[in-house]
Amino acid sequence: MEQKKLKNNRLDLAGQQYGILTVMQSSENIGIRTAWLCQCDCGSTTIVKTVDLRRGKVTSCGCRKKTNGLLQMQYIDGTCIEMLKSTKIRSNNKSGYPGVFYDSKSSKWRAEIMFQGKRYCLGRFNNIIDAIANREEAKEKLHNQFVRKHCNCQDERNTMEENKNED
Ligand SMILES: [Zn+2]
Repeated sequence: MEQKKLKNNRLDLAGQQYGILTVMQSSENIGIRTAWLCQCDCGSTTIVKTVDLRRGKVTSCGCRKKTNGLLQMQYIDGTCIEMLKSTKIRSNNKSGYPGVFYDSKSSKWRAEIMFQGKRYCLGRFNNIIDAIANREEAKEKLHNQFVRKHCNCQDERNTMEENKNED
């Protein structure tokens, strides 16, 4: 596309597309630089210097860069956490997770759970992830069962009392 020249000899970028920005109209200069009001695909508007648009330095209102940065940070954070975990396990042979122990005799991870004063063995696992998953599952089950049992007791009592009243 040929670029028109305005009266004052500026490039007319109106209607041009740069990244996800569409140039709307000329704006006030930023310092000595000419600038443009741009519409971003996300719905925001932004003012960008001609030079930044033409060099491809600015391709969005900032939303695109922000999103990429955020994703990158989450990825790095995730990796860091995983690395910290594995270092911890390797350095002292402990899971760092309650109820999951390394059994050096069988070279397996043992999962167990304490519930109402009783110790439940959940099994031995080759993989610490499996041991943790099983313990999480057991914890969830026991907890839910306990809550359900507790609720049922109350329901029964209420029903019995209602029956008594009827008599
Ligand atoms: Zn945007």
